[in-house]
Amino acid sequence: MYKFYEYSDEEQKEIDRLVEIAEGHETVVQRDKTVYENNNKDKPFSMEGFMERQGEPIATSPEIEKQRENVKNYESAKIKVVDNIGDEAYRMINEVNKRNKKMKITFLGISGALSAKYNSNMLIENGNDCMLFDCGEDVMHSLNAAGRKPEELDAVFISHLHFDHCGGLSWLAYYTYFISKKKIKLYAHESLIADIWSMLRPAMEKLDGKPMMTLDDYFEVHPIRSEKGGFLFGGGSFDLAKQLHVETSHGHMYSYGLRAFDGDKRFFISSDSKEIRIPSTSELTCREECDYKYVFCDCDVMNLGGVHPNYDTLKLFAKETKSKMWLYHYHELDDMPDAVADGFAGFVREGQIFEL
Ligand SMILES: [Zn+2]
Ligand SMILES: [Zn+2]
Repeated sequence: MYKFYEYSDEEQKEIDRLVEIAEGHETVVQRDKTVYENNNKDKPFSMEGFMERQGEPIATSPEIEKQRENVKNYESAKIKVVDNIGDEAYRMINEVNKRNKKMKITFLGISGALSAKYNSNMLIENGNDCMLFDCGEDVMHSLNAAGRKPEELDAVFISHLHFDHCGGLSWLAYYTYFISKKKIKLYAHESLIADIWSMLRPAMEKLDGKPMMTLDDYFEVHPIRSEKGGFLFGGGSFDLAKQLHVETSHGHMYSYGLRAFDGDKRFFISSDSKEIRIPSTSELTCREECDYKYVFCDCDVMNLGGVHPNYDTLKLFAKETKSKMWLYHYHELDDMPDAVADGFAGFVREGQIFEL
């Protein structure tokens, strides 16, 4: 499984040994974290406290002790591998570390702007990093309903400026400024940044006793400068996937979906689109066969036409693509079509979690 090149038996043995350590490494860190949290239930988790106590003796077994010993030697053993075997083996071991990392998508809501259900905003977690994908008007309630806290967020991504996707930004900015005191990253295509501040500015540029505030005072702003550009998050790549959303004779409105990949973990979110354009996975790398595990598509089940692809149009996608397509941003009807019978993976449910 981990063989990319032909190594001698001895080299392969050393690599296998390190792969085992790499896997054990994650286990030890995770277990230490759980023990620390259990012993400090009354206090909020702090990285400093955890690091301090990480070396403390905890319930143990010969197997755990062996893992601990391995972890101690892990960094020096990795350096030895680079010296003795080469960069490729090092890359491979890091790859194993990455595979231990989990990517998770939590749908806080599945609805559009016209329903009383929560807006189609998601949490995307990659390893320890947590990003809010869109920040609609009701996001403080949908986060709470999912049992999640704004303190967990490291970043927010904004796809476009309909209020079911950005109407909660004022709340998030105030919350992170006054309550969590944690300036989070704001990712968006550069064409949206000035408009985001125009929307927030009348309410947010004046703060009692403060000099004139700007968007940079509330967020660590990361404009994405190219339409196919992206950003790194939790060690994975998140590339923009531009979608035509609203078409008029006086200019169009675009929305930016995301094509996410981190090693073999790959998924696509359309955001809001008139006709979904799923970017090819073959552009990701020429080295490996690649594919999305999940394709999340906005969907109009009422066949209103217009700014979202309607259900019947989505049915025309190829069978293989459809089998990965999860439909969201829909208005829940009493009589919903049977998406699975029609070849889709299904309709996403509020609160549903997808893991990669
Ligand atoms: Zn929307
Ligand atoms: Zn929209």
